Amino acid sequence: MDRRSNNCHLLHVCCAPDLVISYLAGARGDIFFYNPNIHPREEYEKRLNEVLKLANLWDLNVLPTKYEPELFFEEVAGMENDPEGGKRCEACFRLRLEKSAQIAHQYNYASFSTTLTASPKKNVILINSIGISISKSTSDANVTYLPNVYRKSSSYNDAQKLIKQLGIYRQNYCGCVYSMSNSLNLRKSLVL
Ligand code: SF4
Repeated sequence: MDRRSNNCHLLHVCCAPDLVISYLAGARGDIFFYNPNIHPREEYEKRLNEVLKLANLWDLNVLPTKYEPELFFEEVAGMENDPEGGKRCEACFRLRLEKSAQIAHQYNYASFSTTLTASPKKNVILINSIGISISKSTSDANVTYLPNVYRKSSSYNDAQKLIKQLGIYRQNYCGCVYSMSNSLNLRKSLVL
């Protein structure tokens, strides 16, 4: 199939809850679950399996992907202690979007976007500006990044209900080992 002339879209997916929000907001495309930031491997597999369940339910095509945590650790070296929302997160978004653009280019997709903008805690202006700058700098400028803010959709509350109804796993930390220990420390301090 000629994906370019059929205007095919590659949707980078970060997790199942954000896929539900994005899907109900109208996001479509082939799924690309590329998240080397997720720690540990069991958590990565758990999140991937939840995404595969939704892909099966909605009959979405899923691209093959690999777990490459070493690339994440290389990318964020020296930023380990940055607070959430700082430079480490910027590097993390860039890593995932660069790979998405590369795969979109390699498989001749017309455009790409990300469900990262469905998350209420993430800097969507930053995510979209990274996506746009990457798409301008790819060797094939025809791979367009489509900016979006899926969390602002009027279907957001319906998505929350659907996530509950489908029993979708909701993670309690962003993904990396640093966010995992922050979340654990916070929960401990609430219990004490
Ligand atoms: S907190 Fe989230 S966005 Fe930031 S580096 Fe960790 S996994 Fe990536």
